Amino acid sequence: MDTKIKQIDENSLILAKDIILCGGVVGIPTETVYGIGANAFDTAAVESIFKIKGRPNDNPLIVHVHKDYDILTLVKDIPDYAKLLAKAFLPGPLTMVYKSRGKVSEAVSCGLDTLAIRIPSHEGAQNFLKFVNLPIAAPSANVSKHVSPTSAEHVFNDLNGKIELILDGGKCVGGIESTVLDCTGKIPVILRSGLITRDMIAQVAGDCREYVYKEGARALSPGMKYKHYSPNCRTLMFFHEEIEKAVKEYNDELAKGVKAYILCDDNTAKLINVENVLNLGSTDNEIASNLYSKLREGEKIAELIIAVAPEKQDGVMVGVMNRLSKACAQGK
Ligand code: AMP
Ligand code: MG
Repeated sequence: MDTKIKQIDENSLILAKDIILCGGVVGIPTETVYGIGANAFDTAAVESIFKIKGRPNDNPLIVHVHKDYDILTLVKDIPDYAKLLAKAFLPGPLTMVYKSRGKVSEAVSCGLDTLAIRIPSHEGAQNFLKFVNLPIAAPSANVSKHVSPTSAEHVFNDLNGKIELILDGGKCVGGIESTVLDCTGKIPVILRSGLITRDMIAQVAGDCREYVYKEGARALSPGMKYKHYSPNCRTLMFFHEEIEKAVKEYNDELAKGVKAYILCDDNTAKLINVENVLNLGSTDNEIASNLYSKLREGEKIAELIIAVAPEKQDGVMVGVMNRLSKACAQGK
C-alpha cells in the first residue's frame, strides 16, 4: 500500500471519508499530536488501529468528535463541573472521560465502561470530523512506544505502507498529547497531564486531583503503565540539579567516540555551553511544542540523548516531565 500525504481540501476530505466508511484508517492532524483515526462504530476498523501501531490491546482509545456533535448520544452522567470545563476549554487539548452508553465498538475502550471524548481545536481536524460526521477513535499516529508525531512527515516515517492517507495539517503547535481527565466522580481527576493544567482545571471546576499510578496496581488509565514516547537510540535523564553530572557523562561518552547530544531547554543550554545540543526553547509552550520533534531529530543524529530536566516543574512542565521520563525509561 502506498501512503499518500495530502493537504486538507475538498478532494482529500472526500478521499478520507471514503476510506473511513470502508473501514480504513486515516492519519489526521490535531493541535496536540497527529492521530490515526477509524470509525468508532466499526469494530474491525478499530481493531486494525491496534494492529497497525502494535498497541497493547488493553490500552483504550480516545474518541474524537466535531464541536457540534451531540456527545450525549455516546456518554451519560455528565457532571456540572464537566459542563463548565467544556465551556472553558473545548474545543481544545482536553480529553474528558465519562460513563459510556456502550454505543461505540467495545474495542475502543478495551472493556472499560467509560469512554474518553475529545473535541480538537485544530481547524483541519474539525473539518475532517464535520465532513465524516462520525465519532473517530484515534490514538497517536506512531508505532507503539515510539515518539509521538507532530508533523505529517513523522507519521509517514512510522506508518509508511501501513495506512492509505495522511491529511497534512502542518506542524502541531501543542506538541504533547491532550490532558486526560476522569469526569466520572465528584471531583475531576487528571489521568494524563497536558497543556490544560491542574490549576487551570481547578480554577473552573473548584477542585482537581492528579491520579498517580503505582506499579502493579489496576491502572485507571491503562496507557500510564507503558514505556512510551521513546527515541530509537540510547537515552539518559538527569534532574536539573544534576547538570554537572550530565555534562560529565556527555564528555565521557564523547571521549569514548559515542555521538552524544544533550536535550535541554534554552536556559540550560546557555549554562552548559556544549557543542551537541538539542535545544527545546525557552517558554513552557515552546518546550512542549518542540519536545517530540527534537527527540525525533535526535534519534537520527545521536547514539545517546542525555536529557536534562527543566528547572521549572509545575504547570505545563508536569506534562513535559511525564513524557520525558517515559521517553528515557529503561525496559518495558
Ligand atoms: P493515546 O491515544 O496514545 O494518546 O493514548 C490515549 C490515552 O487515553 C491513554 O493513556 C489511555 O489509557 C487513555 N484513555 C483512553 N480511553 C480511556 C478511558 N475510557 N478511561 C481512562 N483512560 C482512557
Ligand atoms: Mg500515544
